Amino acid sequence: MSAPTSRLTPASPITPAARTLDRDALTGFRALAGRIDGNGPRYTSYPTADRFHDGIGEADYRTALADSSRGASAPVLPTGSPLSLYVHVPFCENICYYCGCNKIITRDHGRSARYVDYLAREAAQVAQALGARRQVLQSHWGGGTPTFLDEDEMRRVMAALQEHFELSAYGEHSIEIDPRVVDDARMALLAELGFNRISLGVQDFDPEVQRAIHREQSVAQTRAVVDAARRLGMRSISMDLIYGLPHQDARRFAVTIERVLEMRPERLSVYSYAHLPHVFKPQRRIDEAALPAPAEKLEILVATIEKLSAAGYVYIGMDHFALPGDDLAVAQREGKLQRNFQGYSTHAGYDQVGLGVSAIGAVAGRYVQNARTLDDYYAALDAGRLPVIRGFHMSADDHLRREIIGALMCNGVLDSAALAARHGIDFAAAFATELADLERLAADGLVDCRPGRIEVTPLGRLLVRRVAMVFDRHLREDAARRRALAGEAANEAVAAPLVRYSRVV
Ligand code: SF4
Repeated sequence: MSAPTSRLTPASPITPAARTLDRDALTGFRALAGRIDGNGPRYTSYPTADRFHDGIGEADYRTALADSSRGASAPVLPTGSPLSLYVHVPFCENICYYCGCNKIITRDHGRSARYVDYLAREAAQVAQALGARRQVLQSHWGGGTPTFLDEDEMRRVMAALQEHFELSAYGEHSIEIDPRVVDDARMALLAELGFNRISLGVQDFDPEVQRAIHREQSVAQTRAVVDAARRLGMRSISMDLIYGLPHQDARRFAVTIERVLEMRPERLSVYSYAHLPHVFKPQRRIDEAALPAPAEKLEILVATIEKLSAAGYVYIGMDHFALPGDDLAVAQREGKLQRNFQGYSTHAGYDQVGLGVSAIGAVAGRYVQNARTLDDYYAALDAGRLPVIRGFHMSADDHLRREIIGALMCNGVLDSAALAARHGIDFAAAFATELADLERLAADGLVDCRPGRIEVTPLGRLLVRRVAMVFDRHLREDAARRRALAGEAANEAVAAPLVRYSRVV
């Protein structure tokens, strides 16, 4: 096992994003929420995944992997830099009605045995294309339900990863857990396999809400997993909650928050439920009449932020909270926070390899996504091909804007003078339209723009997608196309996207 390598981003002073949200920010948020659309892309990637196209395929991915190993990854990663690894396990035994993930509902565990074989084959092919056994400082198994795999299958997947990659003992190795299907023995196995972080789906502990979303999971089941993780010395426990589900209101959700606070996870994600039954079929089984009204949903969010802040959690941004000593909060204080496909991340800019059906990777300036069905995934690997079906090759402009959006979303500040010097550009000239749009957001108190520096205010952090969207060239071009189609005036401000984006877990 290797010692940890130094981070690639230089340390910088404490960032504005590390400041606590105050009551004024929440009051302003309440007042603005009806007028400013806070929805938008989550920017786990820039450009966002809806820009991926089928002009990118296996050959591009192989070139990207080779580029990564010879140190040509953009922006600038030295040869042999550590990797981030994502493993997708798509199976779940039961359907949760709110779910928008790519999953396969089955009780046939024979299906995962075959899947594990193919995961191992894909890992071998990717490693061969990389040409070297690369160090992995960050890995994550997501789904679906990774704990759908039985003990032997988990061992086989981990053995394959260890055969082809060097999983650092100093790294972050996390797995999503369904507390309904995990016992003490399984938790011990996870620790033995090297997982040092777990992520638990909770959503809401209220029995009526749980029945309405078809996910019945007791406090005791969740607490048992948390207690086991602590006994086993896991470094971080993360819990996911969702607000906006049927039968929720601020008072009832506060009870769930109290139960969660008793367990004191190091990290918490509180996602907004987006009801899109025309996109996600399982949501058709949710009773729309039982969904909280927008004003109630806003109250749930504000009350939750107040409660978590009072309990000592730091608002990281975009639905994420962490205890001050957790690596995420530390990274944010030090200006080292990043975004990747799992949300916020402490590891800066590593190439990300995705394994499994529908998995997304980001390698040497290319995004790639695997086949979305098992049949296509298996067929590609049977033919000796990497199962990439689409992706995106970033331009220099995409890299620049990704850096800007990342700085605003993670650290709440853009040192535009330093950025301009690094990239050899005149920032004010290159982003004149964006700066004009930012003035409107500044008038609403979301940003503070000065020469050489753009700072997101505490209020703006609650609507940070809206700030980031100003720098999204692809959204801007969409808006221009729509205006051209509609014959509208060309000087209209950036329009809201056609699609409302919101993560549905
Ligand atoms: S929410 Fe998670 S456990 Fe539930 S169906 Fe979706 S992927 Fe499976």
